[in-house]
Order: sequence, then C-alpha cells, then structure tokens
Amino acid sequence: MALVTTTEMFKKAYSGGYAVGAFNVNNMEIIQGITEAAGELKAPVILQVSKGARAYANHNYLVKLVQAAVELNPDIPIALHLDHGDTFELCKSCIDGGFSSVMIDGSSKPYEENIALTRKVVEYAHDHGVVVEGELGTLAGIEDEVNVSAEDSSYTRPEEVEDFVTRTGVDSLAIAIGTSHGAYKFTAAQCTRDADGKLVPPPLRFDILREVEKRLPGFPIVLHGSSSVPQEFVKIINENGGKMPDAVGIPEEQLREAARMAVCKINIDSDLRLAMTACIRKHFCEHPDHFDPRQYLKPGREAIKAMVTHKLINVLGCNGKA
Ligand SMILES: [Zn+2]
Repeated sequence: MALVTTTEMFKKAYSGGYAVGAFNVNNMEIIQGITEAAGELKAPVILQVSKGARAYANHNYLVKLVQAAVELNPDIPIALHLDHGDTFELCKSCIDGGFSSVMIDGSSKPYEENIALTRKVVEYAHDHGVVVEGELGTLAGIEDEVNVSAEDSSYTRPEEVEDFVTRTGVDSLAIAIGTSHGAYKFTAAQCTRDADGKLVPPPLRFDILREVEKRLPGFPIVLHGSSSVPQEFVKIINENGGKMPDAVGIPEEQLREAARMAVCKINIDSDLRLAMTACIRKHFCEHPDHFDPRQYLKPGREAIKAMVTHKLINVLGCNGKA
C-alpha cells in the first residue's frame, strides 16, 4: 500500500466508533516504534510532522524514512500529515514534497482571515490530491513553535463550524474542547486533587463536541493535545535525575469516549516523548558504562512501540481496523 490520505480512514473511523492515532515523528526510532506497533495490530496510522520536526530532521530525511515504513508495512494504511502548518508556503512545500495531508492552523487569526487562508490551502491541496485539516478555537499549551497562554485560549464556538467548513472546504476540523498541548496541560490551580493527592484536570467539554457533531453530521473531528501524561512515566523520569513536577494530562477514558463520537483523529505526542525519555534515563542510571547510542535507542524505540500499542488498543480502539 502506498501512502494514503485520511479520507477512507476517517470514513471507517466515524462509522466504526473509533479514532485513528496521529503520532508526531522526529527521527528513525520514533517512526519505527510507531509503525511496528501499528503493523502488528493491523491499525491505520497517521505519522505527523511539525514545523519543528522539519527544522530538526530535514524534510527529505523524514519523507524517506516514512516511505521506508510504508514499504515495510504494506498491510496498513499510513498517512503523512503536516501538523500545525502556519503559512500557505509551508503547506505548499509539504504538498509538493510528498505529504498526503496537511493542517493549516489559522486558529489564532481573526475568523475571516482563518477562512481565507484555509480556503487558499484547500484549493491548492485538493488540486494535488492532498487533504486538509483546519482549526477553530485555540488550545492552550506549548508544542514546538506553537505557544498559547491559558488566557489566550478559547473553546470552539459550535455556531461557527458549519459556516467554516462550507466556506473553506476542509476535510476535517480540529476543535478546542479543553485538551491542551504539552506535558504541563494544566496548572495545579486549574485542577482538583483526588484522594491520593493526584491532580485531576477539568473535564473535556463534551457538550461542545455533541453540538459540533449535531451541526456537522458525519464530518471528522480532530483532537489535538491529547496526551494523558501517565504518572508512572513521570515518576521514572523524576526518580532518574529528571524534574517534571505537576505534569498532568487528559484522562484516557475521556479520550476513548470522544473517539466513540465524531472524533476521528487524536493527536498524541507528549506521551511518546515521556515513554522514550523515561526509558533512556533509567537505562543510563542502570548502565553508566554504556556509550553506544544503539544501547539506549533500542530500548527507547521499544518504549515508543509499547506506548503506541497501549494507545491503539485502549484509547483509540483502532486495532484490527486497517
Ligand atoms: Zn496541535
């Protein structure tokens, strides 16, 4: 199977009550860990590249690595997606350079400017067989070069979604219902504490999701910033020389619930970073004599694979759906 767009994936995910995982890729080990998990579980998968990843690894390296993963996993559909494109030129460069899907994020712009920019990207992308994700509403948090304070964030306004989708022609829409980018999604003050003293974040706004779903029947919705920041990994990091106090994420049950609804794509990045970092930190503490990068990148890659396996089965529900 060659690289595919997300059109078929989303159609099946919508009717099947599950979501496809979109995982950020920055290097070979991450691409291998994700696609090995998806390949073994026969799950469709979206590999996404941010502007920061492209600056880090170079467009050509990432595209060729993803092509290798596609060749090695002929049984599963794989899409290559630009995460948070912020200009027409960046989207065009990815469309021309082999991506099958792009996001144009005009969510920080005034509504009409968001529409005009998104429309322009959609016209170019559709002419080239590429699909487009737009965004309405602004997530808080930090992800690579996207940095939005809690005060500047805003929930998606359901009354805007039909107009936005009709006038732009986007193929999917990212909405803001309380997820957030990064490993520090909420301050302690925004959370409550459970009996064990663990931080509990404010619940996702399912009322907004339901209203969007009602207004756009059958239309695929996307959730960004959907890591759960599993505390056992934060603990391993902190026990092995790391310092990540009060890192907190979105509970997995809430994401599973969203996946049963109109949400067809869920972006997970921080949890993969945490898994790899926890594993490598522990490895260094247990093997202070190791200096061959393969000695710690191999278990690091296994940690990515284990985390993705868990997400595909328990959060997204897309195992066996290839
Ligand atoms: Zn995002």
